[in-house]
Amino acid sequence: SLSSKLDRAFKTLKGQGSITEINVAQTIKEVRRALVDADVNYKVAKSVTDKIKDEAMGRDVLIAVSPGQLMVKIVHEELTHLMGGEKQDIQIKGDPAIILIAGLQGSGKTTFTGKLANYLKKQNRNVLVAACDVYRPAAIDQLKVLAEQVGVEAYTETDNKNPLQIAQNAIAYAKANNKKVVIVDTAGRLAVDEAMMREIAQLKEVLKPTETLFVVDSMTGQDAVNTAKTFNDRINFDGVVLTKLDGDSRGGAALSIRAVVEKPIKFISTGEKMEALDLFYPDRMAQRILGMGDVISLVERAQQTFDEEEARRINQKIRKNQFNFDDFLSQLEQIKKMGDIKDLVSMIPGVGKAMKDVEIDENAFKPIEAIIKSMTKEERANPDIISGNRRNRIAKGSGTNIQQVNNLMKQFNDMRKMMKNMNKLTGKGGGLSKMK
Ligand code: GDP
Ligand code: MG
Repeated sequence: SLSSKLDRAFKTLKGQGSITEINVAQTIKEVRRALVDADVNYKVAKSVTDKIKDEAMGRDVLIAVSPGQLMVKIVHEELTHLMGGEKQDIQIKGDPAIILIAGLQGSGKTTFTGKLANYLKKQNRNVLVAACDVYRPAAIDQLKVLAEQVGVEAYTETDNKNPLQIAQNAIAYAKANNKKVVIVDTAGRLAVDEAMMREIAQLKEVLKPTETLFVVDSMTGQDAVNTAKTFNDRINFDGVVLTKLDGDSRGGAALSIRAVVEKPIKFISTGEKMEALDLFYPDRMAQRILGMGDVISLVERAQQTFDEEEARRINQKIRKNQFNFDDFLSQLEQIKKMGDIKDLVSMIPGVGKAMKDVEIDENAFKPIEAIIKSMTKEERANPDIISGNRRNRIAKGSGTNIQQVNNLMKQFNDMRKMMKNMNKLTGKGGGLSKMK
């Protein structure tokens, strides 16, 4: 899956503690491959990943967040931004408002026409759907059935073979019958052809619709992008409807289409039922493309809570091998601020499920805090002076026992040793440093 690919991509970053030019370059290649696998057009994937790289360099990696997670966050932000940032609803104005539906045969136009009618009817609008696919008699019946199902009126003419006339008659009918929105369902072909293009271009030119929506099957991958471009070049549509996202489509088409035609995606269709219609939310689609689930909210939460200044300060101390019990305590407090630990752990991919039924003792921190707080100022700043006598006193003062104090001292010293080694290895002060 894409998720596991990204996971692999971020392996290079994990454990390194920082985002640097070198590990970003490796990761970015993997991210690009993953996006292409999710049906994102290669050129688009390249420009996306170039932006992501720029964005990633120079970001601080917070202590609570692995660089891999931070990368996921950056990728998510960038994808969301590229897909338009905010959701965009359909515009309804004019009397009546006219919505023209365009797209290839089988893309889901007629189904979407029914869904949109349903959607607008629920906003208390008086809707009429017009059947302008004159090539297949079954298409007219299909729309009639859907209209009936959602309780809106359908305008049909069985003997008329002129879609433009039918549409104009439907609009006249709407005006005479107090209909406020007319949705014009049109004919598509299996592939782009000139006759179809001429017909839809003429409908657009004459009807002057409030909105022209291009319907495209998300399962068709790269073809979806090419078709979108051809239609847009010819009819300059206002928005895109992405259908069949209930299948195993990975949604990459959304990103490519948006990037190639620079038109907002307005709706997504996720099934054959009339209710299976949603506005398009770029952040949700970015999440779908990434497939990283809750990592993003984990990173967000960590970023909100962790004080960047504090992270920088601690970072400096680690570099200089001066990490002490005051710093340790401050880190504990930061972690506690992040809220329910179990909640956080459950968001980590892979770990989340495994940990679901495991009880995490949130009181585990309490004795540690008590012990550190029973140390004198001097002891906290210079842990090396904490002798046996002092340990006895600290145990008594904190209501713990000598064993617990010794354990904490050992853990703390192991941690410092690790930091020291890390400093030696990297030669420039461990992985918690600022990138660049
Ligand atoms: P048109 O030729 O563009 O009018 O396409 P239709 O509306 O007739 O849809 C073609 C086929 O795709 C039909 O069998 C629909 O039921 C199906 N379909 C349309 N939208 C969706 C969707 O979002 N999900 C799924 N699974 N099927 C869809
Ligand atoms: Mg149809």
